[in-house]
Amino acid sequence: MLHKLLERNAVWAAMRRAEDPGYFEQLSKGQEPTYLWIGCSDSRVPENVVGGLGPGEIFAHRNVANLVHSTDVNLLSALEFGVNELGIREIIVCGHTGCGGIAAAMRGPLEGVADHWLETIRRLARRNEEVLSALPEGPARNDKLAEISVVEMVDRLCETPVLRKAWARGMAVSVHGLIYRLSQGELDNLDVTRTGAHLEGGKPGAGRTA
Ligand SMILES: [Zn+2]
Repeated sequence: MLHKLLERNAVWAAMRRAEDPGYFEQLSKGQEPTYLWIGCSDSRVPENVVGGLGPGEIFAHRNVANLVHSTDVNLLSALEFGVNELGIREIIVCGHTGCGGIAAAMRGPLEGVADHWLETIRRLARRNEEVLSALPEGPARNDKLAEISVVEMVDRLCETPVLRKAWARGMAVSVHGLIYRLSQGELDNLDVTRTGAHLEGGKPGAGRTA
């Protein structure tokens, strides 16, 4: 199947050059993305496509279930590079409905590495059992947990030394939490935006998660 991808790439590159002969030359000079996107690896949630943006506009880190682990050097490296080197001031944590990672964590014990990776989702589910058990088991409950997880990941991101130092230096960095609705193709703002290290009026998104 690789040849299909290569063929499509050739067509895409030719189209871009036809539209703008200097397009790739300009892009190759450097990147100045506006957003840092932390999203799920799910193939149905490609950040550029759902954000209606082209190459060079979003710096992305994606993993299964869009989790923020304080020991994930991959994510922390992207965050540090994005904020300190690329000068990004808009950070987005985006979860989505129908997330396979969330569903897998809710189904029960897994075999393999994913079991460790998704442990944080199971903990979140236990901590929010009251809210979740009010919803029917399955997609509705899982999608609520996806929202709860985004709020938690925004909070975790704000605890990273990279962001705490950025705010201490007076940098105007914002961290937003979004959910992508697969069945509508729309991004929902969860309104848990943080613009500083300190919480005001309790845990952000508390009304949604507790
Ligand atoms: Zn997912």
